[in-house]
Amino acid sequence: MECESGREKTPDVVICGAGIAGISAAYHLSVRHGVENVILVDERPPLTLTSDKSTECYRNFWPGPGDAMVSLMNRSIDILEELAREMGNAFHLSRRGYLYCCADLEQVPNLRRAAEESAALGAGPLRCHDGKPSHESYIPPDDRDFDKQPTGIDLITEKPLIERHFPYLSEKVVAVLHARRCGWFSVQQLGMLLLEKARQKGVRLLSGKIRSVDIVRNRIQAVRIERNGALERIPTKHFVIAAGPLLKEVGRTIGLEFPVFSELHLKIAFKDSHRIVPRRAPMLIGTDPIVLPWSEEERKEWASAEGTRKLLDPLPSGVHARPEGGLESTVLLGLWPYDVVLVEPVFPFPIDPHYPEMVLRGLATIVPGLERYVEHLPQAVVDGGYYTKTQENRPLIGKLPVEGAYVIGALSGFGVMAACGAGELLASHVTAGPLPHYASAFAFERYEDPRYRQLLKEWEQSGQL
Ligand SMILES: Cc1cc2nc3c(=O)[nH]c(=O)nc-3n(C[C@H](O)[C@H](O)[C@H](O)COP(=O)(O)OP(=O)(O)OC[C@H]3O[C@@H](n4cnc5c(N)ncnc54)[C@H](O)[C@@H]3O)c2cc1C
Repeated sequence: MECESGREKTPDVVICGAGIAGISAAYHLSVRHGVENVILVDERPPLTLTSDKSTECYRNFWPGPGDAMVSLMNRSIDILEELAREMGNAFHLSRRGYLYCCADLEQVPNLRRAAEESAALGAGPLRCHDGKPSHESYIPPDDRDFDKQPTGIDLITEKPLIERHFPYLSEKVVAVLHARRCGWFSVQQLGMLLLEKARQKGVRLLSGKIRSVDIVRNRIQAVRIERNGALERIPTKHFVIAAGPLLKEVGRTIGLEFPVFSELHLKIAFKDSHRIVPRRAPMLIGTDPIVLPWSEEERKEWASAEGTRKLLDPLPSGVHARPEGGLESTVLLGLWPYDVVLVEPVFPFPIDPHYPEMVLRGLATIVPGLERYVEHLPQAVVDGGYYTKTQENRPLIGKLPVEGAYVIGALSGFGVMAACGAGELLASHVTAGPLPHYASAFAFERYEDPRYRQLLKEWEQSGQL
């Protein structure tokens, strides 16, 4: 059966997906631009596919080329801070920073280069603490007030200073890079608050799956939604794709093949019942590849099976963890993308049974106290989702070749931190408002530019954690 939703006013905009990207787009269109008739369509409850599985962290510490990523994130964080002030910080925005921990002296110049680059691109001033008298002393992280924290980057190579402020780190750590305009917040709370505000401005949330789109003379005419076993046709001139990991699938409804692929990323939550990591700690990240110290017995066991043999090899850097919850909580979140491969998104996705143990082993290389959990594995809740991303790990935000179609996607591992800025940018595209200087860096048509295609060949840093 097919019916046309004739009773309601024709929506100005239909958004496919009520993850943080779609909700932010709906908020910006309705609340900040006064677009009156916006419909958000999702086949799932809002925020439940990827957005509520994230580590909920944000940073303005990003590499080039160009300042587009730093600028987008700075703008997104500006909006987050604005909203936090407006809402009495109802979504618990904190700013303790990201602490990159390096145990390899040879890598310290790379850390410095990354800090200099990001600082030059707009992440804030770089302060080096190397034991020589410096103008500014190091200000340790403070969990209380997000807007009273320093910005920029502290690079500490003075060992006693590292030991004084971060006594729980491995004694092998020789340098830490503390990126300061970084922290975390509750995405669920933020998303629901934005949705609430959008609904007050008339945004409707419709439960259903967008199956197809009517296009006449390369212009959007209507979307067809499967709801309660029936197909409903909703006429609209503007269709926004905010489909998260299902970007490719939804792109095909308008005949587009998005240049994206997906990686499965998992995360664990476990109780740090011995309180090894202080509750006020920043986000901790290991910057060195890891060779795990397996026992002889374990080596034999892992070597005997195809799936586990590779765990004996050097494994990639990027293990990270942060405290979750208030000072009374003991929960830590831990992630380690040690075995990331490209996959087609499927739900539910497979969970590597070794993941919790591997994350704990990886984390113990930067926080040795966590070793005790390797011996007695705590109960860990494992969840995760897909990083759906472009080749260069930059988002797709803006107009599409079909007139009236837009995208806000390929948000990879940074969709939560970018959502406010990305939603604002998307709304400017839809309402033909002024665009910021970084808009072209995220446009779909960038791949048609031969200079951009050349740049892609030389691209070095994806900025992915
Ligand atoms: C383990 C992990 C850790 C992460 N950590 C961070 C972090 O610390 N900081 C950060 O910024 N980001 C992080 N991310 C990334 C972030 O979670 C994502 O980039 C972000 O949630 C993507 O939001 P989205 O709205 O695009 O997608 P989603 O949240 O997946 O929402 C897409 C929605 O579209 C709907 N949809 C799709 N197709 C259709 C259709 N045909 N009809 C109707 N509805 C449809 C889906 O049901 C879904 O609800 C992490 C991700 C993972 C997996």
